[in-house]
Amino acid sequence: MKFCSGCGARVEKRYVESDQRDRDYCKACDTFHYVNPKILVSCMVASGSKIVMMRRAHDPSYGLWSPPAGFVEQGETLESAAMREALEEANAIVDPDSLRIYNVTDLKDISEVYVGFVGSLANEDIRPGPEALEVGLFDEHDLPWDKLAFPAMRGYLKLYFEELARGEIAFHQSRADKSRRARVTYLVSKVHHFGMAN
Ligand code: ZN
Repeated sequence: MKFCSGCGARVEKRYVESDQRDRDYCKACDTFHYVNPKILVSCMVASGSKIVMMRRAHDPSYGLWSPPAGFVEQGETLESAAMREALEEANAIVDPDSLRIYNVTDLKDISEVYVGFVGSLANEDIRPGPEALEVGLFDEHDLPWDKLAFPAMRGYLKLYFEELARGEIAFHQSRADKSRRARVTYLVSKVHHFGMAN
């Protein structure tokens, strides 16, 4: 950050001994500002062997395809954010009981954490929202593989279709930075819901 969000003065970097790192500091407010990673969600909304994809009407990656995705808003749960993005971008209504986590991915170079979900499409009345040029239901063979919005997405979509064909959807934790990618896969045999509500 360059300017204080409280008073607009220019912030400076100050080393914080207890955190062992530089932080943004506003002299005028005598306040440290904590800038932490942003959380994004994506939702693969499935109908049989197909998933909902949307063609982005904004940058980055204007005109390219992605599952519905976006930032979690304040006051939202991860699940409600995933369902909202599917609805906003593709009018895709997700059956809430079907929603489950699919992946958590750290992108530390850009300070973002992605949480991916899979869920079932409640009805096939999908249409583009204001952030989409076009929406569609695609299976592995007709998906626009050469027009994906983000390179990291390809691996996950491939993995999902592979698992779907095997009938075994796992949970994947991964990280990607400039130098390497790594992934841990957890096979989940049962999902229990304890007092969960969106
Ligand atoms: Zn200030």
